[in-house]
Amino acid sequence: METKKTRNTEKQNLVRAILSNTQHTMSAEDIMDAMPIKVNKTTIYRILDRFVAKGEVHFITVKNGKAHYALCNQCGVSHQIHNHIHFECQVCNEVTCQPNTLLIPDLEGFTVKETQFLVIGICNKCKK
Ligand SMILES: [Zn+2]
Ligand SMILES: [Zn+2]
Ligand SMILES: [Zn+2]
Repeated sequence: METKKTRNTEKQNLVRAILSNTQHTMSAEDIMDAMPIKVNKTTIYRILDRFVAKGEVHFITVKNGKAHYALCNQCGVSHQIHNHIHFECQVCNEVTCQPNTLLIPDLEGFTVKETQFLVIGICNKCKK
């Protein structure tokens, strides 16, 4: 029991470290590939789900349907409802959190629980 718990914490810390060392968002597969130890995808998803529930991490569903994750330290004012824009580059496929935010409209009679804003184009690096 004790060892298992320690190992889980270690894996969580590794995922956190990987996400804090990247400039762009990462899919579960990207994170799995970046892990220094072998961890299966189910475990990665479990760790990410937990981080999302705790408000440490948020995600954006990109063009290919995959969720890309980012740490929440730059989420700004609205943390529950993320209103910043994500940019997906068509050339390098990098998806980045952008500082620009959108105003979430008041949808009469509807309760907004989550927002995802994705803008697709060509990033600065790929334009050169
Ligand atoms: Zn957040
Ligand atoms: Zn690019
Ligand atoms: Zn973001």
